[in-house]
Amino acid sequence: MMLQLAKEVVVNLLFSKHYFNKKIIQKSKNASKPKFILSFDPDEENDIKRIPWLLELLKKYNIKASFAAIGIWVEKYPLIFKQIIDEGHELINHTYSHPDNPDLNPYKHFNKISSQERFNEIKKCDEVVFELLKYKMNGFRIPHFGNQFIEDIYPMLEKLNYSFSSSTLAIKSGTGGDPYMVGNIKEFPIMNCPKHAYCIFDTSHAFRAKIVKHSPDDFINTFKDLLSISKKHNLFLNLYQDPQDLHKFDYEKFLKLIDKNRSHFDIVVYGDIL
Ligand SMILES: [Zn+2]
Ligand SMILES: [Zn+2]
Repeated sequence: MMLQLAKEVVVNLLFSKHYFNKKIIQKSKNASKPKFILSFDPDEENDIKRIPWLLELLKKYNIKASFAAIGIWVEKYPLIFKQIIDEGHELINHTYSHPDNPDLNPYKHFNKISSQERFNEIKKCDEVVFELLKYKMNGFRIPHFGNQFIEDIYPMLEKLNYSFSSSTLAIKSGTGGDPYMVGNIKEFPIMNCPKHAYCIFDTSHAFRAKIVKHSPDDFINTFKDLLSISKKHNLFLNLYQDPQDLHKFDYEKFLKLIDKNRSHFDIVVYGDIL
Protein backbone atom coordinates (compact mmCIF):
# COMPACT_ATOMS: atom_id res chain seq x y z
CA MET A 1 0.00 0.00 0.00
CA MET A 2 2.75 2.46 1.04
CA LEU A 3 4.93 1.30 -1.84
CA GLN A 4 2.12 1.84 -4.32
CA LEU A 5 1.53 5.31 -2.90
CA ALA A 6 5.23 6.18 -3.13
CA LYS A 7 5.28 4.95 -6.72
CA GLU A 8 2.28 7.08 -7.61
CA VAL A 9 3.85 10.23 -6.15
CA VAL A 10 7.08 9.62 -8.07
CA VAL A 11 5.15 9.00 -11.29
CA ASN A 12 3.08 12.14 -10.71
CA LEU A 13 6.14 14.28 -10.23
CA LEU A 14 8.54 12.80 -12.78
CA PHE A 15 7.06 10.39 -15.29
CA SER A 16 3.49 11.50 -15.71
CA LYS A 17 3.68 11.91 -19.47
CA HIS A 18 5.03 8.40 -19.98
CA TYR A 19 2.40 6.76 -17.77
CA PHE A 20 -0.45 8.81 -19.20
CA ASN A 21 0.65 7.72 -22.65
CA LYS A 22 1.16 4.07 -21.80
CA LYS A 23 -1.84 3.44 -19.55
CA ILE A 24 -4.41 5.77 -21.05
CA ILE A 25 -3.70 6.90 -24.61
CA GLN A 26 -2.39 3.55 -25.84
CA LYS A 27 -5.14 1.57 -24.16
CA SER A 28 -8.11 3.57 -25.40
CA LYS A 29 -9.88 1.92 -28.33
CA ASN A 30 -12.68 4.44 -28.62
CA ALA A 31 -13.19 4.73 -32.36
CA SER A 32 -15.89 7.35 -32.73
CA LYS A 33 -16.02 11.03 -31.85
CA PRO A 34 -14.93 11.35 -28.22
CA LYS A 35 -17.59 11.78 -25.57
CA PHE A 36 -17.37 14.49 -22.94
CA ILE A 37 -19.07 14.14 -19.56
CA LEU A 38 -18.89 16.71 -16.78
CA SER A 39 -19.93 15.67 -13.29
CA PHE A 40 -19.92 17.24 -9.85
CA ASP A 41 -19.59 15.74 -6.38
CA PRO A 42 -21.17 18.15 -3.92
CA ASP A 43 -19.90 16.30 -0.84
CA GLU A 44 -19.70 19.10 1.70
CA GLU A 45 -22.06 21.86 2.68
CA ASN A 46 -19.86 24.49 1.01
CA ASP A 47 -20.25 22.51 -2.24
CA ILE A 48 -24.03 22.54 -1.95
CA LYS A 49 -24.06 26.31 -1.43
CA ARG A 50 -22.27 26.87 -4.76
CA ILE A 51 -24.79 24.86 -6.78
CA PRO A 52 -27.23 27.70 -7.64
CA TRP A 53 -24.31 29.79 -8.98
CA LEU A 54 -23.02 26.78 -10.92
CA LEU A 55 -26.44 26.05 -12.42
CA GLU A 56 -26.62 29.61 -13.77
CA LEU A 57 -23.30 29.15 -15.56
CA LEU A 58 -24.20 25.74 -16.95
CA LYS A 59 -27.38 27.27 -18.32
CA LYS A 60 -25.48 30.18 -19.86
CA TYR A 61 -23.17 27.77 -21.75
CA ASN A 62 -25.87 25.19 -22.41
CA ILE A 63 -23.99 22.31 -20.78
CA LYS A 64 -25.83 19.40 -19.17
CA ALA A 65 -24.01 17.70 -16.32
CA SER A 66 -24.32 14.93 -13.73
CA PHE A 67 -24.51 15.59 -10.01
CA ALA A 68 -23.66 12.98 -7.37
CA ALA A 69 -26.44 13.18 -4.76
CA ILE A 70 -25.86 12.32 -1.10
CA GLY A 71 -29.11 11.37 0.65
CA ILE A 72 -28.63 13.57 3.72
CA TRP A 73 -28.02 16.66 1.58
CA VAL A 74 -31.10 15.89 -0.50
CA GLU A 75 -33.14 15.76 2.73
CA LYS A 76 -31.67 19.07 3.89
CA TYR A 77 -31.68 20.91 0.54
CA PRO A 78 -34.46 19.32 -1.57
CA LEU A 79 -35.11 22.52 -3.54
CA ILE A 80 -31.54 22.77 -4.77
CA PHE A 81 -31.64 19.16 -5.99
CA LYS A 82 -35.04 19.75 -7.55
CA GLN A 83 -33.60 22.69 -9.47
CA ILE A 84 -30.78 20.45 -10.76
CA ILE A 85 -33.32 18.03 -12.23
CA ASP A 86 -35.66 20.75 -13.48
CA GLU A 87 -32.81 22.25 -15.47
CA GLY A 88 -32.23 18.97 -17.26
CA HIS A 89 -29.19 17.66 -15.41
CA GLU A 90 -28.72 14.12 -14.16
CA LEU A 91 -28.53 12.83 -10.58
CA ILE A 92 -26.47 9.81 -9.61
CA ASN A 93 -26.48 7.99 -6.28
CA HIS A 94 -23.56 8.91 -4.00
CA THR A 95 -24.77 7.00 -0.88
CA TYR A 96 -26.91 8.26 2.00
CA SER A 97 -24.18 9.52 4.33
CA HIS A 98 -20.95 9.33 2.27
CA PRO A 99 -18.84 7.36 4.81
CA ASP A 100 -15.71 9.37 5.75
CA ASN A 101 -17.37 12.66 4.80
CA PRO A 102 -16.06 15.21 7.35
CA ASP A 103 -19.49 16.84 7.74
CA LEU A 104 -21.69 13.73 7.71
CA ASN A 105 -19.97 10.48 8.65
CA PRO A 106 -16.30 11.14 9.45
CA TYR A 107 -15.22 7.90 11.13
CA LYS A 108 -16.33 5.28 8.63
CA HIS A 109 -14.92 4.19 5.29
CA PHE A 110 -17.10 2.89 2.50
CA ASN A 111 -14.82 -0.07 1.75
CA LYS A 112 -14.47 -1.03 5.44
CA ILE A 113 -18.10 -1.09 6.59
CA SER A 114 -19.98 -4.39 6.16
CA SER A 115 -21.39 -5.20 2.74
CA GLN A 116 -24.89 -5.01 4.26
CA GLU A 117 -24.16 -1.46 5.46
CA ARG A 118 -22.84 -0.60 1.99
CA PHE A 119 -26.00 -1.88 0.40
CA ASN A 120 -28.13 0.07 2.89
CA GLU A 121 -26.17 3.27 2.14
CA ILE A 122 -26.93 2.93 -1.58
CA LYS A 123 -30.54 1.83 -1.14
CA LYS A 124 -31.40 4.57 1.35
CA CYS A 125 -30.07 7.28 -0.96
CA ASP A 126 -32.13 5.81 -3.79
CA GLU A 127 -35.27 5.88 -1.62
CA VAL A 128 -34.74 9.43 -0.34
CA VAL A 129 -34.24 10.80 -3.85
CA PHE A 130 -37.29 8.98 -5.14
CA GLU A 131 -39.48 10.05 -2.22
CA LEU A 132 -38.50 13.69 -2.15
CA LEU A 133 -37.84 14.39 -5.82
CA LYS A 134 -39.79 11.66 -7.63
CA TYR A 135 -36.60 10.96 -9.56
CA LYS A 136 -35.37 7.45 -10.28
CA MET A 137 -31.59 7.30 -10.39
CA ASN A 138 -29.86 4.51 -12.25
CA GLY A 139 -26.19 5.33 -11.76
CA PHE A 140 -23.82 5.38 -8.80
CA ARG A 141 -20.47 6.79 -7.68
CA ILE A 142 -18.45 5.37 -4.79
CA PRO A 143 -17.50 7.93 -2.10
CA HIS A 144 -13.84 8.83 -2.66
CA PHE A 145 -13.59 6.18 -5.33
CA GLY A 146 -9.83 6.44 -5.61
CA ASN A 147 -9.07 4.84 -2.28
CA GLN A 148 -12.41 3.43 -1.14
CA PHE A 149 -13.22 1.47 -4.27
CA ILE A 150 -14.66 -1.99 -3.69
CA GLU A 151 -15.94 -4.44 -6.32
CA ASP A 152 -19.03 -5.66 -4.48
CA ILE A 153 -20.95 -2.54 -5.50
CA TYR A 154 -21.71 -4.03 -8.91
CA PRO A 155 -24.03 -6.88 -7.82
CA MET A 156 -25.65 -4.42 -5.40
CA LEU A 157 -26.33 -1.99 -8.25
CA GLU A 158 -27.82 -4.81 -10.34
CA LYS A 159 -30.10 -5.67 -7.44
CA LEU A 160 -31.40 -2.08 -7.45
CA ASN A 161 -31.88 -2.19 -11.24
CA TYR A 162 -29.15 0.37 -11.82
CA SER A 163 -27.32 0.35 -15.11
CA PHE A 164 -24.10 2.28 -14.58
CA SER A 165 -21.39 3.41 -12.20
CA SER A 166 -18.60 5.96 -12.42
CA SER A 167 -16.33 4.81 -9.63
CA THR A 168 -12.89 3.97 -11.04
CA LEU A 169 -9.84 5.74 -12.49
CA ALA A 170 -8.96 5.70 -16.17
CA ILE A 171 -5.33 4.88 -15.41
CA LYS A 172 -6.32 1.75 -13.50
CA SER A 173 -9.16 0.72 -15.79
CA GLY A 174 -7.12 -1.17 -18.37
CA THR A 175 -9.31 0.42 -21.07
CA GLY A 176 -7.67 3.83 -21.16
CA GLY A 177 -10.84 5.41 -19.82
CA ASP A 178 -13.29 3.80 -22.24
CA PRO A 179 -16.41 2.49 -20.47
CA TYR A 180 -16.56 -1.26 -19.80
CA MET A 181 -19.09 -3.75 -18.47
CA VAL A 182 -19.01 -5.46 -15.06
CA GLY A 183 -21.90 -7.92 -15.25
CA ASN A 184 -24.84 -5.79 -16.36
CA ILE A 185 -23.36 -2.55 -15.06
CA LYS A 186 -21.51 -0.15 -17.32
CA GLU A 187 -18.52 1.42 -15.57
CA PHE A 188 -17.37 4.88 -16.72
CA PRO A 189 -13.80 5.49 -15.47
CA ILE A 190 -12.84 9.05 -14.52
CA MET A 191 -10.07 10.70 -16.53
CA ASN A 192 -6.70 11.31 -14.91
CA CYS A 193 -4.59 14.45 -15.03
CA PRO A 194 -2.10 14.44 -17.92
CA LYS A 195 0.36 16.30 -15.73
CA HIS A 196 -0.05 14.05 -12.66
CA ALA A 197 -1.08 10.74 -14.14
CA TYR A 198 -2.14 9.06 -10.88
CA CYS A 199 -4.39 11.95 -9.85
CA ILE A 200 -7.83 12.37 -11.27
CA PHE A 201 -8.08 15.59 -13.28
CA ASP A 202 -10.16 17.09 -10.49
CA THR A 203 -10.22 20.41 -8.73
CA SER A 204 -9.46 19.01 -5.31
CA HIS A 205 -5.95 17.82 -6.21
CA ALA A 206 -5.44 20.97 -8.28
CA PHE A 207 -6.30 23.47 -5.56
CA ARG A 208 -6.30 21.68 -2.22
CA ALA A 209 -3.37 19.25 -2.43
CA LYS A 210 -0.01 20.16 -0.89
CA ILE A 211 2.52 18.98 -3.47
CA VAL A 212 0.85 17.71 -6.63
CA LYS A 213 -1.22 20.75 -7.57
CA HIS A 214 -1.92 23.46 -10.18
CA SER A 215 -2.03 27.22 -10.28
CA PRO A 216 -5.32 28.57 -11.68
CA ASP A 217 -3.77 29.33 -15.10
CA ASP A 218 -1.96 26.02 -15.19
CA PHE A 219 -5.21 24.16 -14.51
CA ILE A 220 -6.84 25.82 -17.52
CA ASN A 221 -3.77 25.14 -19.68
CA THR A 222 -3.72 21.50 -18.61
CA PHE A 223 -7.39 21.28 -19.53
CA LYS A 224 -6.54 22.69 -22.99
CA ASP A 225 -3.86 19.99 -23.32
CA LEU A 226 -6.31 17.31 -22.25
CA LEU A 227 -8.82 18.48 -24.85
CA SER A 228 -6.19 18.35 -27.60
CA ILE A 229 -4.98 14.89 -26.54
CA SER A 230 -8.55 13.69 -26.43
CA LYS A 231 -9.35 15.08 -29.89
CA LYS A 232 -6.22 13.54 -31.33
CA HIS A 233 -6.63 10.09 -29.76
CA ASN A 234 -10.40 9.92 -29.25
CA LEU A 235 -10.07 9.73 -25.47
CA PHE A 236 -13.32 9.45 -23.59
CA LEU A 237 -13.33 12.47 -21.28
CA ASN A 238 -15.20 11.80 -18.06
CA LEU A 239 -14.36 14.68 -15.71
CA TYR A 240 -15.44 15.47 -12.21
CA GLN A 241 -15.19 18.57 -10.04
CA ASP A 242 -16.08 19.79 -6.56
CA PRO A 243 -18.32 22.89 -6.66
CA GLN A 244 -16.47 24.47 -3.70
CA ASP A 245 -13.31 24.83 -5.85
CA LEU A 246 -14.83 26.40 -8.93
CA HIS A 247 -14.26 30.00 -7.87
CA LYS A 248 -10.52 29.27 -7.45
CA PHE A 249 -9.90 29.52 -11.19
CA ASP A 250 -11.54 31.18 -14.18
CA TYR A 251 -14.53 28.87 -14.37
CA GLU A 252 -16.23 30.72 -17.20
CA LYS A 253 -13.08 30.27 -19.24
CA PHE A 254 -13.24 26.54 -18.51
CA LEU A 255 -16.86 26.36 -19.68
CA LYS A 256 -16.11 28.49 -22.73
CA LEU A 257 -13.44 25.98 -23.74
CA ILE A 258 -16.00 23.20 -23.59
CA ASP A 259 -18.45 25.30 -25.58
CA LYS A 260 -15.81 26.13 -28.20
CA ASN A 261 -15.03 22.44 -28.69
CA ARG A 262 -18.62 21.36 -29.18
CA SER A 263 -18.08 20.18 -32.74
CA HIS A 264 -15.27 17.83 -31.65
CA PHE A 265 -17.06 16.10 -28.77
CA ASP A 266 -20.43 14.63 -27.92
CA ILE A 267 -21.26 16.48 -24.72
CA VAL A 268 -23.53 14.11 -22.82
CA VAL A 269 -24.54 12.80 -19.39
CA TYR A 270 -24.11 9.14 -18.46
CA GLY A 271 -27.74 8.25 -19.10
CA ASP A 272 -27.47 9.45 -22.72
CA ILE A 273 -24.94 6.73 -23.50
CA LEU A 274 -26.93 3.76 -22.22
ZN1 LIG B 1 -17.91 12.20 -2.81
ZN1 LIG C 1 -2.73 17.55 -12.04
